[in-house]
Amino acid sequence: MPGEVSRAHNGVLFLDELPEFNRNVLEVLREPLEARVITIARAGAQLEFPAGFQLIAAMNPCPCGYLGDPQGDCGCSAERVASYRGKVSGPLLDRIDLHVEVQRPPRAALRPGSPGGTRSRDVAARVIRARRRQIKRGDQCNARLDGDALDTACALDPGSLLLLENAAEKFRLAVRAYRRVQRVARTIADLAGEEHIARPHIAEAISLRQLDKKRR
Ligand SMILES: [Zn+2]
Repeated sequence: MPGEVSRAHNGVLFLDELPEFNRNVLEVLREPLEARVITIARAGAQLEFPAGFQLIAAMNPCPCGYLGDPQGDCGCSAERVASYRGKVSGPLLDRIDLHVEVQRPPRAALRPGSPGGTRSRDVAARVIRARRRQIKRGDQCNARLDGDALDTACALDPGSLLLLENAAEKFRLAVRAYRRVQRVARTIADLAGEEHIARPHIAEAISLRQLDKKRR
């Protein structure tokens, strides 16, 4: 029977409280996140199911959830925090494009009709424009770029390349994560309507990998 990753094919797989999942379960995600298929081997049979999903996951900064929160007191020891975060392995993090820390919103922002923020329909319009640009350029969206197509679409000027190489060394990025930064930078440039990737796009893509910094 197809499992959750196949049921999420062409859609979103959302995992709340990521570190609470059994580590073996999380490691199984590595294959479909790269290959967009999952192979299931059972006695005498090997089956392949489609599993091209977008993974979205949420986790707390620490087991109690209050680390770094100005309104709360975190009582977790450094060891507990490290062990909690360690449940999500480096190779799995390498396969996640964006790691974004979000603060608790102020209460007033939760009131219906509160001003501020960007409207979803405005964002959706920008996303559609950026996606069209990608398909027009390479017949595929940036997330699927690989090999020569990746090198061509994500060509970097010397300054951008140096910035990316320095970050890769500082945060010891795996090749896989390095390629993901290139693709994300390409998408940031597309969202801005820019033909070429520039240093600010690379810098933003690197800044969106916050858990790489916490791992080192
Ligand atoms: Zn805590």
